[in-house]
Amino acid sequence: MNLQYKSTRNPSVEVTASQAILKGLADDGGLFVPEKIPALALSLEELKGLSYQETAFAVMKEFLTDFTEEELKECIRKAYDSKFDTEEIAPLVKVDDTYYLELFHGATIAFKDMALSILPHLMTTAAKKNHVDKEIVILAATSGDTGKAAMAGFADVEGTRIIVFYPKGGVSKVQELQMVTQRGKNVDVVAIHGNFDDAQRGVKEMFGSQALKEELAADGYQFSSANSINIGRLVPQIVYYVYAYGKLLENGEIESGENINVVVPTGNFGNILAACYAKQMGIPIHKLICASNENKVLFDFFRTGTYDKNREFLLTTSPSMDILVSSNLERLIYQISDCDCEKDAELMGLLKQKGKYTITPAMRDHLQDFDAGYASEQETADMIRKIYDRTGYVIDTHTAVAAYVCEDYKTRTKDETKCVIASTASPYKFVKSVMQAIGQADGEKDELELLGNLEKVSKVEMPKAICDILDAEVLHTRECDADKMEEEVKKILGL
Ligand SMILES: *Cc1c(COP(=O)(O)O)cnc(C)c1O
Repeated sequence: MNLQYKSTRNPSVEVTASQAILKGLADDGGLFVPEKIPALALSLEELKGLSYQETAFAVMKEFLTDFTEEELKECIRKAYDSKFDTEEIAPLVKVDDTYYLELFHGATIAFKDMALSILPHLMTTAAKKNHVDKEIVILAATSGDTGKAAMAGFADVEGTRIIVFYPKGGVSKVQELQMVTQRGKNVDVVAIHGNFDDAQRGVKEMFGSQALKEELAADGYQFSSANSINIGRLVPQIVYYVYAYGKLLENGEIESGENINVVVPTGNFGNILAACYAKQMGIPIHKLICASNENKVLFDFFRTGTYDKNREFLLTTSPSMDILVSSNLERLIYQISDCDCEKDAELMGLLKQKGKYTITPAMRDHLQDFDAGYASEQETADMIRKIYDRTGYVIDTHTAVAAYVCEDYKTRTKDETKCVIASTASPYKFVKSVMQAIGQADGEKDELELLGNLEKVSKVEMPKAICDILDAEVLHTRECDADKMEEEVKKILGL
């Protein structure tokens, strides 16, 4: 029996996993959700000693049931290979009494690689399976990390094109350089005059436009999405939480069945939702702790039950979390409404019209698994410094937001459950903020000049991803206004 995927906004929609991956977003604007979260077929004990690839197979086969065993194994093999700088793929590092799950050992040194190195393979396999005869055009909005990881993943993948939109001035220097130097004859990147939410809205509107869809089809194209709204992103992200639990067991850090807490620096709510799904698959997770930066719309939501994006959009030192509309939250809203599509559509309608909505008391009761906190800019920087001074371990700004929230949670609740922090980026990617935090960014130094200093300070070798951009040629210079994204896409595709 195949697991079916439903739209959060329309109960009559039912597609297979491969169809959901190809479409990205449902036609009604809803997100695809599995009709139920499958249980892991392995016992917790059996997770001990599994490689990352084996764990990936154990998790993904439960969700992507219309892929054959061979197809899935092939996708996994191609994705989690020497593009990662460690065979462990996602090492779990113990610092003091906390575990950092390092998700930044892939090609673009941020956690987006965990899913985006496999998504292109899942998508091309899905295309064959569904006899797609059109070229797939991936549209992605990025707050900095998705864009590069998606471009790297899809570069020169046959049958695909990729167009990425990022907010001009809203990403780090390293992030921007990574994107504008990306090679590949099928990749384009556009800087928009607006913020991430503008970029994401523009992409969603293009997905929703029937007229554009028809125009594309006439020229042999169809859209899909590499954003975390795609179930093909979400499912591979469940894997590392299962893997982390296996590692904790294997290393004798926990007893089988012992609860852990997971702390996730959150933007679009994809990563933490994957942890939530891992819990529902059977991984003993006590609290899912949602960590926000000063754009603390999610913190306020968990505290009050009201999601309100009517506020100033702040640019912070953790730009990949500078988001006011967290798309994946819709999947949680759907779940806590007991899969009530009407309620979900109503609330999402309110979000669109009024910029805010409030969930019912019954829905709030279903949020017991979550806790939330946020870190100010100062608290984030202080955390980087504190951990560095105490242990010599250097974390990036996003991870530092989570580390602060983790510490704050422990103090506030006295909960002694062991905590795993999702460490989402290499400090090299946000070198300026990191070096400033540890007091080693002497004055005027350019971001790129600081890279060598970070190497000395952290004693972690400069990743290949950084070496590669230092003398790479800028290949992309497109820019457009936030309301002109569709025209830009047409220009690029020659429509
Ligand atoms: C994307 C990103 C996040 C936020 O993850 P979501 O799944 O969008 O919540 C956090 N940290 C880094 C470094 C990221 O790239």
